[in-house]
Amino acid sequence: MPPVEYNVPSPDDRSTIVCLYCHRPQEVGRKAMTVTCKFCNKSLRLEDQSFSKYEARRVIDTCGTVTVEKKGNVVADKINCGGLVVRGKLKGTIISRGPVLVGPEAEIKGDVTAPTLAVGAGAILEGKYDIGPKAVPTLPG
Ligand SMILES: [Zn+2]
Repeated sequence: MPPVEYNVPSPDDRSTIVCLYCHRPQEVGRKAMTVTCKFCNKSLRLEDQSFSKYEARRVIDTCGTVTVEKKGNVVADKINCGGLVVRGKLKGTIISRGPVLVGPEAEIKGDVTAPTLAVGAGAILEGKYDIGPKAVPTLPG
């Protein structure tokens, strides 16, 4: 019998992201901080962003995970992210491509669109919530 070959592709340095603008999935290098979408040519940030103090932003845009720490207080017009963890305060219109986790003492003011939402007891949520696999825009088909 020939030796069994384990031809599993190496646990590689690629990951799949979904473009925030045209919603097409594509492979990117895991260590890349930014890429240009190969479909719509927009520049995409990939790194996770974490906030641990008051910050006002117009737009927070990343395919990575946005984390608002307990002492964080983020005010933004729009948050377009790959995932979201809120332990502090966050105000803005949120569109997350991945799960949204809200800690027990967190406070979110704004509309949230995400595939899944987990909320700790005692969290304050103010806004409209559109949760489910179909809530987040994807390509037709
Ligand atoms: Zn794109």
